[in-house]
Amino acid sequence: MQRTQIKDSVEKIGHQITVMGWVNTRRDHGKIVFVDLRDRSGILQIVFVPGSKAYEKISPIRPEWVISVTGKIKARPEKLVNDKMVTGTVEMEAEDIEILNEAKTSPFEIDKNTLGVDEELRLKYRYLDLRSERMAKNIILRHNIVRFMREYLYAKNFLEIETPFLTKSTPEGAREYIVPSRLYPGEFYVLPQSPQQFKQLLMVAGMEKYFQVVRCFRDEDQRGDRQPEFTQLDLEMSFVTQDDIYNLIEPMMIDLVEKLIPDAEFTAKPFPKITYAEAIEKYKTDKPDLRKNKSDKKEFAFCWIVDAPLFKYSKTDKKLVSSHHPFTMPQPDDVELLDSEPEKVRAYAYDLVLNGFEVAGGSIRIHKRDIQDKIFKLLGLSEEETTRRFGHMLEAFEYGAPPHGGIASGIDRLVAVLAGEDAIREVMAFPKTGDAKDLMMGAPSQVSEHQLKDVHITLRKEAEGKELKTDDTIVGD
Ligand code: ASP
Repeated sequence: MQRTQIKDSVEKIGHQITVMGWVNTRRDHGKIVFVDLRDRSGILQIVFVPGSKAYEKISPIRPEWVISVTGKIKARPEKLVNDKMVTGTVEMEAEDIEILNEAKTSPFEIDKNTLGVDEELRLKYRYLDLRSERMAKNIILRHNIVRFMREYLYAKNFLEIETPFLTKSTPEGAREYIVPSRLYPGEFYVLPQSPQQFKQLLMVAGMEKYFQVVRCFRDEDQRGDRQPEFTQLDLEMSFVTQDDIYNLIEPMMIDLVEKLIPDAEFTAKPFPKITYAEAIEKYKTDKPDLRKNKSDKKEFAFCWIVDAPLFKYSKTDKKLVSSHHPFTMPQPDDVELLDSEPEKVRAYAYDLVLNGFEVAGGSIRIHKRDIQDKIFKLLGLSEEETTRRFGHMLEAFEYGAPPHGGIASGIDRLVAVLAGEDAIREVMAFPKTGDAKDLMMGAPSQVSEHQLKDVHITLRKEAEGKELKTDDTIVGD
Protein backbone atom coordinates (compact mmCIF):
# COMPACT_ATOMS: atom_id res chain seq x y z
CA MET A 1 0.00 0.00 0.00
CA GLN A 2 1.17 3.53 -0.77
CA ARG A 3 2.79 5.36 2.13
CA THR A 4 1.00 8.25 3.81
CA GLN A 5 3.07 10.89 5.64
CA ILE A 6 2.16 10.98 9.29
CA LYS A 7 0.90 14.58 9.32
CA ASP A 8 -1.65 13.67 6.63
CA SER A 9 -3.21 10.96 8.77
CA VAL A 10 -5.56 13.55 10.32
CA GLU A 11 -7.34 13.75 6.96
CA LYS A 12 -7.84 9.99 6.77
CA ILE A 13 -10.33 9.24 9.52
CA GLY A 14 -12.14 5.99 8.69
CA HIS A 15 -9.56 5.00 6.07
CA GLN A 16 -6.96 2.28 6.06
CA ILE A 17 -3.50 3.73 5.42
CA THR A 18 0.14 2.71 5.68
CA VAL A 19 2.65 4.81 7.58
CA MET A 20 6.41 4.25 7.71
CA GLY A 21 8.95 5.62 10.12
CA TRP A 22 10.88 5.16 13.34
CA VAL A 23 9.52 3.91 16.65
CA ASN A 24 9.71 6.97 18.89
CA THR A 25 8.39 5.26 22.02
CA ARG A 26 6.69 2.03 22.94
CA ARG A 27 4.40 1.69 25.95
CA ASP A 28 2.87 -1.59 27.09
CA HIS A 29 -0.40 -1.11 28.97
CA GLY A 30 -1.47 -4.54 30.09
CA LYS A 31 -2.33 -6.33 26.89
CA ILE A 32 -2.49 -3.23 24.75
CA VAL A 33 0.66 -1.79 23.22
CA PHE A 34 1.02 1.84 22.17
CA VAL A 35 3.69 2.81 19.67
CA ASP A 36 4.41 6.42 18.80
CA LEU A 37 5.69 6.30 15.25
CA ARG A 38 7.77 9.19 13.96
CA ASP A 39 8.52 10.43 10.48
CA ARG A 40 9.76 13.84 9.37
CA SER A 41 6.28 15.30 9.47
CA GLY A 42 5.31 14.33 13.00
CA ILE A 43 4.38 11.55 15.39
CA LEU A 44 1.34 9.24 15.26
CA GLN A 45 -0.01 7.16 18.11
CA ILE A 46 -0.63 3.58 16.99
CA VAL A 47 -2.57 1.09 19.10
CA PHE A 48 -1.89 -2.62 18.95
CA VAL A 49 -4.71 -4.78 20.32
CA PRO A 50 -4.63 -8.56 20.78
CA GLY A 51 -6.10 -10.54 17.89
CA SER A 52 -4.62 -8.56 14.99
CA LYS A 53 -1.77 -9.74 12.74
CA ALA A 54 0.11 -6.64 13.81
CA TYR A 55 -0.15 -7.57 17.49
CA GLU A 56 1.53 -10.93 16.87
CA LYS A 57 4.60 -9.22 15.44
CA ILE A 58 4.93 -6.38 17.94
CA SER A 59 6.82 -8.07 20.75
CA PRO A 60 10.48 -7.55 19.58
CA ILE A 61 10.01 -4.00 18.40
CA ARG A 62 12.11 -1.35 20.20
CA PRO A 63 12.67 2.39 19.87
CA GLU A 64 14.27 3.50 16.58
CA TRP A 65 13.36 0.33 14.70
CA VAL A 66 12.08 1.22 11.25
CA ILE A 67 8.62 -0.17 10.60
CA SER A 68 5.72 0.05 8.21
CA VAL A 69 2.28 -0.14 9.80
CA THR A 70 -1.03 -0.56 8.04
CA GLY A 71 -4.19 0.20 9.95
CA LYS A 72 -7.29 2.25 10.29
CA ILE A 73 -7.26 5.93 11.36
CA LYS A 74 -9.77 6.73 14.08
CA ALA A 75 -10.80 10.00 15.67
CA ARG A 76 -9.70 10.25 19.31
CA PRO A 77 -12.43 10.79 21.85
CA GLU A 78 -12.60 14.49 22.85
CA LYS A 79 -10.88 14.03 26.21
CA LEU A 80 -7.92 12.19 24.67
CA VAL A 81 -7.15 14.85 22.07
CA ASN A 82 -3.50 15.98 22.40
CA ASP A 83 -2.93 19.58 21.21
CA LYS A 84 0.84 19.16 21.32
CA MET A 85 0.92 16.62 18.47
CA VAL A 86 0.19 17.44 14.81
CA THR A 87 -1.86 14.24 14.80
CA GLY A 88 -3.35 14.82 18.25
CA THR A 89 -6.95 14.37 17.04
CA VAL A 90 -6.44 10.87 15.68
CA GLU A 91 -4.76 7.53 16.29
CA MET A 92 -4.25 4.39 14.26
CA GLU A 93 -5.43 0.91 15.09
CA ALA A 94 -2.73 -1.36 13.70
CA GLU A 95 -3.74 -4.24 11.46
CA ASP A 96 -0.39 -5.37 10.10
CA ILE A 97 3.23 -4.36 10.42
CA GLU A 98 6.43 -4.98 8.52
CA ILE A 99 9.80 -4.57 10.13
CA LEU A 100 11.94 -2.63 7.64
CA ASN A 101 15.03 -2.52 9.81
CA GLU A 102 16.15 -3.14 13.35
CA ALA A 103 18.16 -0.62 15.38
CA LYS A 104 20.72 -0.85 18.17
CA THR A 105 19.89 1.01 21.35
CA SER A 106 20.78 4.62 20.60
CA PRO A 107 23.55 6.21 22.66
CA PHE A 108 21.16 8.91 23.91
CA GLU A 109 17.43 9.42 24.08
CA ILE A 110 16.08 10.76 20.83
CA ASP A 111 12.49 11.27 21.94
CA LYS A 112 13.66 14.02 24.33
CA ASN A 113 15.31 17.40 23.82
CA THR A 114 18.99 16.49 23.27
CA LEU A 115 20.39 19.84 24.45
CA GLY A 116 21.40 18.31 27.75
CA VAL A 117 23.26 15.38 26.17
CA ASP A 118 27.06 15.49 25.93
CA GLU A 119 27.71 17.43 22.74
CA GLU A 120 30.58 15.28 21.53
CA LEU A 121 28.25 12.28 21.59
CA ARG A 122 25.58 14.21 19.73
CA LEU A 123 28.09 15.28 17.08
CA LYS A 124 29.48 11.77 16.66
CA TYR A 125 25.97 10.43 16.12
CA ARG A 126 24.64 13.52 14.39
CA TYR A 127 22.28 11.45 12.22
CA LEU A 128 20.56 10.34 15.42
CA ASP A 129 20.56 13.79 16.98
CA LEU A 130 18.88 15.16 13.85
CA ARG A 131 15.99 12.75 14.42
CA SER A 132 15.07 14.57 17.63
CA GLU A 133 12.14 16.93 17.32
CA ARG A 134 13.97 20.16 18.17
CA MET A 135 16.85 19.49 15.80
CA ALA A 136 14.59 18.39 12.95
CA LYS A 137 12.55 21.56 13.48
CA ASN A 138 15.69 23.71 13.32
CA ILE A 139 16.85 22.11 10.09
CA ILE A 140 13.40 22.53 8.54
CA LEU A 141 13.25 26.17 9.69
CA ARG A 142 16.64 26.76 8.09
CA HIS A 143 15.39 25.22 4.86
CA ASN A 144 12.33 27.48 4.94
CA ILE A 145 14.43 30.59 5.62
CA VAL A 146 16.80 29.84 2.74
CA ARG A 147 13.86 29.03 0.48
CA PHE A 148 12.20 32.30 1.45
CA MET A 149 15.36 34.28 0.65
CA ARG A 150 15.78 32.57 -2.70
CA GLU A 151 12.20 33.18 -3.73
CA TYR A 152 12.31 36.79 -2.55
CA LEU A 153 15.41 37.46 -4.63
CA TYR A 154 14.19 35.57 -7.70
CA ALA A 155 11.08 37.78 -7.60
CA LYS A 156 13.36 40.84 -7.54
CA ASN A 157 15.13 39.68 -10.66
CA PHE A 158 18.37 38.45 -9.08
CA LEU A 159 20.46 35.82 -10.83
CA GLU A 160 21.74 32.94 -8.72
CA ILE A 161 25.31 32.38 -9.84
CA GLU A 162 27.91 29.98 -8.42
CA THR A 163 31.49 31.07 -7.88
CA PRO A 164 34.55 28.83 -7.43
CA PHE A 165 35.71 27.22 -4.22
CA LEU A 166 39.17 26.50 -5.57
CA THR A 167 40.53 29.98 -5.95
CA LYS A 168 42.98 32.58 -4.73
CA SER A 169 42.88 34.45 -1.48
CA THR A 170 40.29 37.16 -0.88
CA PRO A 171 40.85 39.29 2.18
CA GLU A 172 38.14 39.15 4.84
CA GLY A 173 40.64 39.25 7.64
CA ALA A 174 40.93 35.58 8.60
CA ARG A 175 43.51 32.88 7.94
CA GLU A 176 42.73 30.83 4.87
CA TYR A 177 42.38 27.14 4.13
CA ILE A 178 44.76 26.09 1.42
CA VAL A 179 44.51 23.19 -1.04
CA PRO A 180 47.70 21.88 -2.64
CA SER A 181 47.76 21.63 -6.41
CA ARG A 182 48.77 18.27 -7.90
CA LEU A 183 49.41 19.66 -11.37
CA TYR A 184 51.51 22.60 -10.26
CA PRO A 185 54.06 21.51 -7.66
CA GLY A 186 54.44 23.96 -4.81
CA GLU A 187 51.29 25.89 -5.74
CA PHE A 188 48.04 26.08 -3.86
CA TYR A 189 44.42 26.99 -4.24
CA VAL A 190 42.77 28.89 -1.42
CA LEU A 191 39.22 28.22 -0.24
CA PRO A 192 37.29 31.51 -0.35
CA GLN A 193 36.54 33.43 2.84
CA SER A 194 33.73 34.93 0.78
CA PRO A 195 32.97 35.33 -2.95
CA GLN A 196 33.77 39.05 -2.59
CA GLN A 197 35.98 39.48 -5.63
CA PHE A 198 33.92 37.19 -7.84
CA LYS A 199 30.71 39.01 -7.07
CA GLN A 200 32.31 42.35 -7.87
CA LEU A 201 33.69 40.91 -11.11
CA LEU A 202 30.16 39.67 -11.92
CA MET A 203 29.07 43.31 -11.71
CA VAL A 204 31.85 44.28 -14.12
CA ALA A 205 30.48 41.43 -16.27
CA GLY A 206 27.11 43.17 -16.43
CA MET A 207 25.07 40.69 -14.35
CA GLU A 208 23.59 43.62 -12.36
CA LYS A 209 21.95 41.58 -9.58
CA TYR A 210 23.68 38.48 -8.22
CA PHE A 211 23.07 36.29 -5.23
CA GLN A 212 24.25 32.98 -3.92
CA VAL A 213 23.70 30.89 -0.82
CA VAL A 214 27.31 30.02 -0.39
CA ARG A 215 29.76 28.28 1.88
CA CYS A 216 32.64 30.42 3.14
CA PHE A 217 35.81 29.14 4.80
CA ARG A 218 37.80 30.88 7.50
CA ASP A 219 40.57 29.16 9.43
CA GLU A 220 40.19 31.16 12.59
CA ASP A 221 41.23 30.28 16.07
CA GLN A 222 38.01 29.09 17.55
CA ARG A 223 36.92 32.05 19.59
CA GLY A 224 33.29 32.02 20.53
CA ASP A 225 30.69 30.31 18.47
CA ARG A 226 32.44 30.11 15.10
CA GLN A 227 32.74 27.41 12.49
CA PRO A 228 35.52 26.89 9.96
CA GLU A 229 32.89 26.70 7.22
CA PHE A 230 29.66 28.60 7.34
CA THR A 231 26.95 29.78 4.98
CA GLN A 232 26.19 33.27 3.74
CA LEU A 233 23.46 34.75 1.66
CA ASP A 234 25.80 36.74 -0.53
CA LEU A 235 24.55 39.41 -2.92
CA GLU A 236 25.70 42.29 -5.06
CA MET A 237 23.94 44.90 -7.17
CA SER A 238 25.02 47.46 -9.73
CA PHE A 239 23.95 51.10 -9.88
CA VAL A 240 22.90 51.24 -6.22
CA THR A 241 23.31 53.37 -3.14
CA GLN A 242 23.23 52.29 0.50
CA ASP A 243 19.48 53.01 0.58
CA ASP A 244 18.84 50.48 -2.17
CA ILE A 245 20.53 47.81 -0.07
CA TYR A 246 18.53 48.74 3.05
CA ASN A 247 15.31 48.76 1.01
CA LEU A 248 16.05 45.28 -0.28
CA ILE A 249 17.18 43.59 2.92
CA GLU A 250 14.89 45.17 5.52
CA PRO A 251 11.55 44.11 3.96
CA MET A 252 13.02 40.66 3.32
CA MET A 253 13.93 40.23 6.99
CA ILE A 254 10.57 41.59 8.17
CA ASP A 255 8.57 39.34 5.86
CA LEU A 256 10.70 36.34 6.60
CA VAL A 257 10.27 36.71 10.36
CA GLU A 258 6.54 37.42 10.11
CA LYS A 259 5.91 34.41 7.86
CA LEU A 260 8.19 31.86 9.48
CA ILE A 261 8.39 32.65 13.20
CA PRO A 262 5.08 32.32 15.03
CA ASP A 263 4.49 34.92 17.77
CA ALA A 264 7.49 37.01 16.71
CA GLU A 265 7.57 40.62 17.80
CA PHE A 266 9.77 43.40 16.46
CA THR A 267 11.24 45.89 18.90
CA ALA A 268 11.21 48.54 16.18
CA LYS A 269 10.07 48.82 12.59
CA PRO A 270 11.53 50.31 10.41
CA PHE A 271 14.91 49.21 11.75
CA PRO A 272 16.74 52.08 13.50
CA LYS A 273 19.90 53.34 11.81
CA ILE A 274 22.65 54.07 14.28
CA THR A 275 26.03 55.44 13.28
CA TYR A 276 29.04 53.45 14.35
CA ALA A 277 30.27 56.38 16.44
CA GLU A 278 26.92 56.70 18.22
CA ALA A 279 26.77 52.96 18.90
CA ILE A 280 30.21 52.94 20.47
CA GLU A 281 29.43 55.99 22.55
CA LYS A 282 25.98 54.92 23.70
CA TYR A 283 26.25 51.12 23.88
CA LYS A 284 30.06 50.59 23.99
CA THR A 285 29.67 48.10 21.15
CA ASP A 286 28.90 48.08 17.44
CA LYS A 287 26.51 45.17 18.02
CA PRO A 288 23.98 46.51 20.51
CA ASP A 289 21.17 44.31 21.75
CA LEU A 290 18.19 46.68 21.63
CA ARG A 291 15.54 44.28 22.93
CA LYS A 292 13.28 45.60 25.66
CA ASN A 293 13.33 42.19 27.30
CA LYS A 294 16.73 40.59 26.80
CA SER A 295 15.53 37.13 27.68
CA ASP A 296 12.59 37.13 25.27
CA LYS A 297 13.42 34.69 22.47
CA LYS A 298 10.49 35.91 20.37
CA GLU A 299 11.48 39.57 20.49
CA PHE A 300 13.60 40.63 17.53
CA ALA A 301 15.53 43.89 17.63
CA PHE A 302 17.13 44.64 14.29
CA CYS A 303 19.19 47.77 13.72
CA TRP A 304 21.54 49.05 11.05
CA ILE A 305 24.98 50.23 12.11
CA VAL A 306 26.13 52.72 9.48
CA ASP A 307 29.06 55.02 8.70
CA ALA A 308 31.71 52.68 10.09
CA PRO A 309 35.31 53.84 9.80
CA LEU A 310 37.08 52.71 6.64
CA PHE A 311 40.23 51.77 8.54
CA LYS A 312 41.37 50.92 11.98
CA TYR A 313 44.73 50.27 13.55
CA SER A 314 45.55 46.58 13.99
CA LYS A 315 45.91 45.43 17.57
CA THR A 316 49.25 43.74 17.03
CA ASP A 317 51.44 46.19 15.17
CA LYS A 318 49.27 49.33 15.07
CA LYS A 319 49.22 49.17 11.28
CA LEU A 320 46.31 50.54 9.27
CA VAL A 321 43.90 47.74 8.21
CA SER A 322 40.47 47.82 6.55
CA SER A 323 37.61 47.61 9.04
CA HIS A 324 35.51 45.69 6.52
CA HIS A 325 37.61 44.81 3.49
CA PRO A 326 39.78 46.89 1.17
CA PHE A 327 37.13 47.15 -1.58
CA THR A 328 34.89 49.41 0.52
CA MET A 329 34.18 52.93 -0.73
CA PRO A 330 35.26 55.88 1.42
CA GLN A 331 32.55 58.50 1.88
CA PRO A 332 33.23 61.38 -0.56
CA ASP A 333 33.05 64.02 2.22
CA ASP A 334 35.94 62.35 4.02
CA VAL A 335 38.21 61.55 1.10
CA GLU A 336 40.45 64.51 1.84
CA LEU A 337 41.30 62.96 5.21
CA LEU A 338 42.74 59.84 3.56
CA ASP A 339 46.31 61.09 3.78
CA SER A 340 46.19 63.12 6.98
CA GLU A 341 43.84 61.22 9.31
CA PRO A 342 42.84 57.99 7.58
CA GLU A 343 41.28 56.56 10.75
CA LYS A 344 38.69 59.35 10.62
CA VAL A 345 37.47 58.45 7.13
CA ARG A 346 33.97 56.99 7.19
CA ALA A 347 33.04 54.20 4.79
CA TYR A 348 29.88 53.48 2.89
CA ALA A 349 29.60 50.35 5.01
CA TYR A 350 26.68 48.94 6.98
CA ASP A 351 26.01 46.05 9.29
CA LEU A 352 22.65 44.60 10.22
CA VAL A 353 22.53 43.66 13.89
CA LEU A 354 19.90 41.41 15.47
CA ASN A 355 19.62 40.98 19.24
CA GLY A 356 23.31 41.79 19.70
CA PHE A 357 24.64 39.70 16.79
CA GLU A 358 25.86 40.89 13.43
CA VAL A 359 23.62 39.05 10.96
CA ALA A 360 24.68 40.87 7.78
CA GLY A 361 27.37 43.25 6.62
CA GLY A 362 28.27 44.94 3.40
CA SER A 363 29.29 48.09 1.64
CA ILE A 364 29.25 50.19 -1.48
CA ARG A 365 32.43 49.28 -3.32
CA ILE A 366 35.20 51.16 -4.95
CA HIS A 367 34.77 50.86 -8.71
CA LYS A 368 37.57 53.15 -9.85
CA ARG A 369 41.14 52.05 -10.16
CA ASP A 370 42.78 55.18 -8.80
CA ILE A 371 40.87 55.05 -5.50
CA GLN A 372 41.50 51.31 -5.14
CA ASP A 373 45.21 51.83 -5.82
CA LYS A 374 45.30 54.51 -3.15
CA ILE A 375 43.62 52.27 -0.56
CA PHE A 376 46.13 49.46 -1.18
CA LYS A 377 48.96 51.95 -0.79
CA LEU A 378 47.54 53.22 2.51
CA LEU A 379 47.30 49.60 3.66
CA GLY A 380 51.02 49.30 3.10
CA LEU A 381 50.99 47.07 0.02
CA SER A 382 53.87 47.49 -2.38
CA GLU A 383 53.14 47.80 -6.07
CA GLU A 384 54.46 44.28 -6.58
CA GLU A 385 52.17 42.82 -3.92
CA THR A 386 49.15 44.77 -5.15
CA THR A 387 49.66 43.49 -8.68
CA ARG A 388 50.29 39.90 -7.56
CA ARG A 389 47.24 39.73 -5.29
CA PHE A 390 44.74 42.12 -6.79
CA GLY A 391 45.99 42.91 -10.30
CA HIS A 392 42.93 41.19 -11.81
CA MET A 393 40.55 43.46 -9.84
CA LEU A 394 42.42 46.62 -10.74
CA GLU A 395 42.53 45.60 -14.37
CA ALA A 396 38.79 44.85 -14.37
CA PHE A 397 38.08 48.32 -12.99
CA GLU A 398 39.62 49.71 -16.19
CA TYR A 399 37.07 47.96 -18.39
CA GLY A 400 33.93 49.87 -17.45
CA ALA A 401 33.15 48.77 -13.90
CA PRO A 402 29.71 50.06 -12.88
CA PRO A 403 29.11 51.57 -9.42
CA HIS A 404 28.08 48.66 -7.24
CA GLY A 405 27.53 47.46 -3.70
CA GLY A 406 26.29 44.49 -1.77
CA ILE A 407 25.90 42.65 1.47
CA ALA A 408 26.29 39.18 2.95
CA SER A 409 24.18 37.67 5.69
CA GLY A 410 25.43 34.86 7.91
CA ILE A 411 22.66 32.36 7.63
CA ASP A 412 23.78 30.16 10.51
CA ARG A 413 23.62 32.99 13.06
CA LEU A 414 20.41 34.42 11.64
CA VAL A 415 18.67 31.04 11.85
CA ALA A 416 20.05 30.41 15.34
CA VAL A 417 18.67 33.70 16.68
CA LEU A 418 15.32 33.17 14.97
CA ALA A 419 15.13 29.61 16.29
CA GLY A 420 15.93 30.82 19.81
CA GLU A 421 19.14 28.76 19.91
CA ASP A 422 22.29 30.00 21.61
CA ALA A 423 24.80 28.19 19.38
CA ILE A 424 24.97 28.11 15.58
CA ARG A 425 25.81 24.39 15.81
CA GLU A 426 22.17 23.81 16.74
CA VAL A 427 21.00 24.94 13.32
CA MET A 428 23.68 23.28 11.19
CA ALA A 429 23.19 19.73 9.99
CA PHE A 430 26.82 18.68 10.32
CA PRO A 431 28.80 21.26 12.30
CA LYS A 432 32.29 20.91 13.63
CA THR A 433 33.29 21.09 17.25
CA GLY A 434 34.64 24.29 18.79
CA ASP A 435 38.13 23.03 17.89
CA ALA A 436 37.24 22.42 14.23
CA LYS A 437 36.77 18.65 14.28
CA ASP A 438 34.11 16.65 12.50
CA LEU A 439 33.54 13.91 15.04
CA MET A 440 31.15 11.93 12.88
CA MET A 441 33.39 11.67 9.80
CA GLY A 442 36.59 11.82 11.80
CA ALA A 443 38.01 14.88 10.05
CA PRO A 444 40.62 16.18 9.84
CA SER A 445 42.53 12.95 9.32
CA GLN A 446 45.81 11.76 7.93
CA VAL A 447 46.14 10.98 4.25
CA SER A 448 48.30 8.34 2.61
CA GLU A 449 51.92 8.77 1.67
CA HIS A 450 50.77 8.34 -1.90
CA GLN A 451 48.27 11.19 -1.68
CA LEU A 452 50.91 13.43 -0.16
CA LYS A 453 53.36 12.53 -2.90
CA ASP A 454 50.76 13.35 -5.52
CA VAL A 455 50.50 16.89 -4.20
CA HIS A 456 54.24 17.21 -3.63
CA ILE A 457 54.06 17.47 0.13
CA THR A 458 56.56 16.04 2.56
CA LEU A 459 55.44 16.22 6.13
CA ARG A 460 57.44 18.17 8.68
CA LYS A 461 60.51 18.51 6.51
CA GLU A 462 58.63 20.52 3.96
CA ALA A 463 60.41 23.77 4.74
CA GLU A 464 63.92 22.34 4.66
CA GLY A 465 66.20 24.15 2.31
CA LYS A 466 63.31 25.92 0.64
CA GLU A 467 62.85 29.58 0.43
CA LEU A 468 59.42 30.38 1.83
CA LYS A 469 57.23 33.08 0.37
CA THR A 470 57.22 36.19 2.50
CA ASP A 471 54.01 36.74 4.45
CA ASP A 472 51.29 38.71 2.75
CA THR A 473 50.44 42.09 4.25
CA ILE A 474 47.33 41.90 6.38
CA VAL A 475 44.72 44.14 4.82
CA GLY A 476 41.42 43.28 6.52
CA ASP A 477 40.24 42.65 10.01
N1 ASP B 1 32.26 39.80 1.72
C1 ASP B 1 31.79 40.43 2.91
C2 ASP B 1 31.84 39.45 4.09
O1 ASP B 1 31.82 38.26 3.88
C3 ASP B 1 30.39 40.90 2.80
C4 ASP B 1 30.21 41.99 1.80
O2 ASP B 1 30.95 42.99 1.87
O3 ASP B 1 29.30 41.86 0.96
O4 ASP B 1 31.90 39.87 5.23
